[in-house]
Parts: sequence; C-alpha cells; structure tokens
Amino acid sequence: MMGDTLTMKIKKIIFATGNEGKMNEIKEIMKDFTEKNEIILMSLKEAGVDAAIIEDGNTFEENALIKARAIAGLTDAVVMADDSGLEVDYLDKAPGIYSARFLGEDTSYDVKNAYILEKLEGVEDEKRSARFVCAIACVFPDGRELCVKGTIEGRIDYEIKGCNGFGYDPIFYVPEYGCTTAQMPEEKKNEVSHRGRALAAMMDELEKYNR
Ligand code: IMP
Repeated sequence: MMGDTLTMKIKKIIFATGNEGKMNEIKEIMKDFTEKNEIILMSLKEAGVDAAIIEDGNTFEENALIKARAIAGLTDAVVMADDSGLEVDYLDKAPGIYSARFLGEDTSYDVKNAYILEKLEGVEDEKRSARFVCAIACVFPDGRELCVKGTIEGRIDYEIKGCNGFGYDPIFYVPEYGCTTAQMPEEKKNEVSHRGRALAAMMDELEKYNR
C-alpha cells in the first residue's frame, strides 16, 4: 500500500552493479550507515537479479537512473545505481560517460591511460584539468526517485603513478593531496573520491527517508 511504503523504514537496498570491486568499495563506504539503520545492502548477484541494461543516457545522472529504474522494475526493494567516469577538459570532457568503453571495452587501462598521456603531451599544467564524476540514483518501490552527484577535481599527470585503485587512477593527479588517486590509501580515496562524496550525499538524503 502506498501509505505504508511512504513511512516504511528501508530494510534492503540492492545496488545495481555487477562489478564486485565497486560493490566492496560501496559496502565499506556505507558500512556505518547500513549498520546503524539495520539495512542489508546487496549486489545484483547477491539478490539473484540478472538483467542486461542498455545505458543509453546522455549524462551520468541519466545513466544512473536508467540502471536503477530497470532493476526497480524487477524487485520490490529500494534500488540504487551509479554511473561514473573521467572528464578531461583538454579532450572536450572525453572519455566522460564512455569511460569504461573508451577505445573499446576490452582495451586495457595501460593502453587507455597511455593514450590520454600521449594526447596531452606538451600540454601545460593549467590545461590538464580533469575530474572524476559519479552520479548515484535511488528508486523506491513507490516510484520516488533521488539522484545525487559527487566529483573530485584534479589534473592528468605526466606519467603513470601508483598501483592502488583501478581504471584511470594512475594518471589522475590531485594537487590537494600531491599524488594520484592510485597512490592514495584505499580509506583516503573512499573519503575524498567522487563515489565517496556522492554516496555521502545519498546517505544524507536516505536518512531523511528513513525516519
Ligand atoms: P561505470 O562502472 O559504468 O560507472 O564505469 C565507470 C568507468 O569510469 C570505469 O570503468 C573507469 O574507467 C572509470 N572510473 C570510474 N570511477 C573511477 C575511479 O575511481 N578510478 C578510476 N577510474 C574510474
């Protein structure tokens, strides 16, 4: 019943990702929140949900909503989904929403990162600005929707540095911390990253719904 749903406490959240590494990162970031509110946070696999979703939005927010809505249609749980990527200003904000597919889905990040470094060869610091962006959407069983965004500003480094993290981390330099995100300890990255910030904003919103 609609009235019940509106006042109902959130018991279970399915996070619509098939990426185990990302899921572990999200569980770690949301740990205190889920424990405090007695919420079970599950991946698609853990929830036994399987779906091929076509991400054909034009923005991070649209894609996050597309994923969350698609899964929400298959379950009665609260569903969250994210979409993230790297925007390089000198490359007109590429790879952006195509970050995972950039130069081909199966192309290694050694190749993708080397390509970006080469494109920016000889380009001075001020023009190397870039950011990681993460949009997170949440769809409730009664159809309500939330969408938040987090970013971390930095610039493309001159060479690959560090071996933590994944993807474009080894070329993403954050002046504020004097290192790439691949050189940050995991806890530090979780605290300051686009995903960490978007999840923090989402948890603030969910607190309001969970009273
Ligand atoms: P998604 O899983 O569809 O959101 O794709 C995100 C893509 O953006 C990843 O495959 C990476 O290429 C890139 N990306 C997103 N977040 C990060 C990050 O924290 N570090 C490095 N690369 C990232």
